[in-house]
Amino acid sequence: MSALSKTLDLDLREARWNEFVATVRPRLTPETRLAEREVLAPKTTMRVGGPARVYAEPATTEELRQLLVEANHRGLPVFLLGRGSNLIIPDEGVDGLVICLAHESWQKFEVRTGGQVWAGAGLRLKNLCGLATKAGLKGFEFLEGIPGSVGGALRMNAGAMGGWMFDVVEEVHLLSLAGELRVMNKSEMHVDYRHCAELHDAIALGALLKPAAIAESGDIRRQIDVYQKKRVESQPREPSAGCIFKNPPGASAGRLIDELGLKGTRVGDAEVSPVHANFIVNRGHATSADIIRLIRQIRARVKSARGIDLEPEVLLYGQEWRDVL
Ligand SMILES: Cc1cc2nc3c(=O)[nH]c(=O)nc-3n(C[C@H](O)[C@H](O)[C@H](O)COP(=O)(O)OP(=O)(O)OC[C@H]3O[C@@H](n4cnc5c(N)ncnc54)[C@H](O)[C@@H]3O)c2cc1C
Repeated sequence: MSALSKTLDLDLREARWNEFVATVRPRLTPETRLAEREVLAPKTTMRVGGPARVYAEPATTEELRQLLVEANHRGLPVFLLGRGSNLIIPDEGVDGLVICLAHESWQKFEVRTGGQVWAGAGLRLKNLCGLATKAGLKGFEFLEGIPGSVGGALRMNAGAMGGWMFDVVEEVHLLSLAGELRVMNKSEMHVDYRHCAELHDAIALGALLKPAAIAESGDIRRQIDVYQKKRVESQPREPSAGCIFKNPPGASAGRLIDELGLKGTRVGDAEVSPVHANFIVNRGHATSADIIRLIRQIRARVKSARGIDLEPEVLLYGQEWRDVL
């Protein structure tokens, strides 16, 4: 593409964004937040990355639908942001509409008559566990230390301490990027290790969850304390995005990296955590370029020493790892 056609392309894209904002803004209530060029780094646990071209925190399903339909109509890409705990946001930001279900209307926790729990997609996992414990509902303890939201945990099929998110799911309510509402039973969904296919191109609005049993709050709390202690002992405290790589079949990514002596390896302020080798921590001013370079180095060492291709578990927001690694 010539420099001139690239400039024209960018101008056209910019015009579409301006038209999008001008169209949707008057239709949104003051409860919904809409911002241009919102910096995303502070909305992530790794604390890196540039701005979203447009950022929205819709207050209602109808306003969410409006945003989706108008973006779709103009061919503008849409991305969901949970609590940003499994993401590396590129330094240049994201040329997209970034939607975050941070409004309180998405944070509901309701115990239904059948004993199930309705959890809004914006609810923090920590709050889900706290509220379930108070209600004497057992089965969510393994989620407590995962710093994500229900929506992000569904998309990633997050897991810890032998439990997986979809172990406790009965049904998921989702909105397609075209704005169509759908209720899916767990049995209809395709989920595996850190992945839910149906949420690639759809937004989870919330889920009906099934507690394992009714129990004394004190007993549930004691189990949570055991898990918490394990985490404190085995995970770094500095900003990170959790485990960088998926465990390859039959092996532990952290152990492989550790055995190659890579703990403490640094690129800029991005460092392989000395506490847990499958974590990269931000020592202060890391950029996503530093993190990507470090990921490349780790993968190259593991490949040459062990012949294993480590696959990232963290997501590169708005891009595909295969395009940058
Ligand atoms: C210290 C630390 C410890 C961690 N420990 C664990 C662990 O033990 N187990 C584990 O599995 N993970 C762990 N993680 C990773 C992370 O917390 C989980 O993957 C979590 O589920 C991500 O949720 P989130 O809300 O932060 O999602 P984000 O990181 O914001 O997004 C992740 C993906 O989910 C999508 N998404 C977010 N919300 C929605 C929605 N409503 N609908 C559709 N898609 C959505 C995003 O578009 C993105 O593709 C850890 C992370 C950190 C920093």
